[in-house]
Amino acid sequence: MKNLAIHGGQPVRKSFLTYGRQCISKEDIQAVVEVLKSEFLTTGPQIDKFEEKMKAFIGVNYAVAVSNGTAALHCACLAAGVSTGDEVITTPITFAASANAVLYCGGKPIFADVDPKTMNIDIDSIEKKITSKTKAIIVVDYTGQVNDMDRIMNIAKRHNLLVIEDAAHALGSTYNGVLIGSQADMTTFSFHPVKHITTGEGGMITTNNETLCTKLKLYRSHGITRDKELLLNHENASWYYEQQDLGYNYRITDIQCALGVSQMNRIDEFIRTRRALVQLYESYLVKIPEIRLPYQAAYSNSSWHLYVIRLRLELLTCDRNTIIEALRAENIGVNLHYIPVYLHPYYQSLGYNIGECRNAEEIYGDMITIPLHHNMDQDDVLLVYKALEKVINYYRKGK
Ligand SMILES: *Cc1c(COP(=O)(O)O)cnc(C)c1O
Repeated sequence: MKNLAIHGGQPVRKSFLTYGRQCISKEDIQAVVEVLKSEFLTTGPQIDKFEEKMKAFIGVNYAVAVSNGTAALHCACLAAGVSTGDEVITTPITFAASANAVLYCGGKPIFADVDPKTMNIDIDSIEKKITSKTKAIIVVDYTGQVNDMDRIMNIAKRHNLLVIEDAAHALGSTYNGVLIGSQADMTTFSFHPVKHITTGEGGMITTNNETLCTKLKLYRSHGITRDKELLLNHENASWYYEQQDLGYNYRITDIQCALGVSQMNRIDEFIRTRRALVQLYESYLVKIPEIRLPYQAAYSNSSWHLYVIRLRLELLTCDRNTIIEALRAENIGVNLHYIPVYLHPYYQSLGYNIGECRNAEEIYGDMITIPLHHNMDQDDVLLVYKALEKVINYYRKGK
């Protein structure tokens, strides 16, 4: 038996492999440099270019670029009219931002449990949580696997609710063959460096609804408009602008958007790479019975932001955290996505209860995110497998 690195043995990999990271080309750098030499660093032509690029890729009428994915969610909640006392139903297995956006508006996030197979929000559980105060539903395409949007939009229509799809994980994923970004009332994206494409920090909201788009643009920039057709006071001066609502400075810079446009030139390649790495992972990992591979619903073709495996702890002599520490010592940068949002101390202080979403908590107990990004090659995948095999062999029951 090979000595685990955590016990002083040789690590499987020489250097640390992170779970996710950006992939920057010479063209990306050139695009950013060009903007730095140009007239506009912000509110210039690159914003439109990036929005046009995303609209064309997704096949949607409107796109509003903002400073980050959290700002995108906040603007979407504001445009949906979420305010004091409103309830918004969402999933606990997500980054806290999906629920925080509701709190920013004075609303109350209501956590519906997840489907243990897809790890996305359980649609039956959404229906049970709807009350007279419910205003919207925020679904999250966790890891890149999309939600069953036809069913969700149906429920929303019956109860007169808006649907926001947090697709921070799902740029390039398809629902029944159609790219994600036009199914919900509003879809939000993030361009943080671990996501499919990056702008450093950045986000986007896509929609087919013109009224929502107008609101999103207002909230992005202080609630101020210069659009002559939208002005409330009929002022004719060319310089004139007016604040019509309380918005924010959630603008994204031209520097970032130029990087976004350049990154989008490689989106197909990025998605192909991720899908190929996942296929290779699956071919290796099926050989380890202590590991449960991610389930994929038939309507979803994931672009794979994260690769999350689950451990069959009943077959192991240790807990999940021991496996994580042992893998990190082998220089495999495993991680955890996510602590169910309502278990965070802040949410506990708001009165959410432990045990509220049993499936989410069970999944949280045995999940591990293993590395997946465009800089990885077949050898990296093999080494992750070797490390998992080494660590799990050591902790296998009854060996
Ligand atoms: C990354 C992420 C966000 C937030 O995006 P930022 O750009 O970091 O603000 C929101 N929701 C989910 C599910 C995410 O993964």
